[in-house]
Amino acid sequence: MDFAHLAPADRENRATATAGAVPARSAEEPSDSDLFERTVGIATQHAGRPLTEALGLDRAALARLLTRHLPGHRADLLATVPPDAGSGEEALEEPDVRAYLLECRGGRDDDAESWWAAILARRSLQPNHLWQDMGFRNRGELGIMLRRHFPELVRRNHQDMKWKKFLYRELCKREGIVICKSPVCACCSDFQACFGGEPGEPLHALAAVSGPKS
Ligand code: SF4
Repeated sequence: MDFAHLAPADRENRATATAGAVPARSAEEPSDSDLFERTVGIATQHAGRPLTEALGLDRAALARLLTRHLPGHRADLLATVPPDAGSGEEALEEPDVRAYLLECRGGRDDDAESWWAAILARRSLQPNHLWQDMGFRNRGELGIMLRRHFPELVRRNHQDMKWKKFLYRELCKREGIVICKSPVCACCSDFQACFGGEPGEPLHALAAVSGPKS
């Protein structure tokens, strides 16, 4: 779905008017409204799956998000979602991913942090790099959002592991599950699987070629 006709300045003004204490960003950085636009857009690509389930948000939360960040699309998008839609069946690890993310929240924007935590936990179940499954244009945009809303997470991943690997390794560590083949990353045969630039094409671009995915 194309949200391009929404002027970035309008979107940002709407966001800051309600957010108040969102940390300052440079002019080059995408706003939260820009990033939510990309993520909502990629979530609409799941044919037959309600937007609520693709995002991990119930209808009320989705409505609040759209009101704040994508008001021009609120009515059309909500019309695709049943009135009583919940966030869909959760994967076993989803509550733990959400809780871990919220433990790392910056505490400056409760709504955005809650929405992003739920969306990240749900989108991380998809098979691609996390930045791709979030609908972002590159890995850097994921870093911008995480620094903005989950600064402690970025601090903890100071070695810059791949994000899904990092999240799931942290949860395994808490459960006492050892998934590492070596006590030292530099000597580990899985180094390339855990680190590296997470290269790839944005899924929006791929979706434009291949159409909706199941
Ligand atoms: S590189 Fe090896 S030791 Fe380091 S996090 Fe990955 S699996 Fe664990």
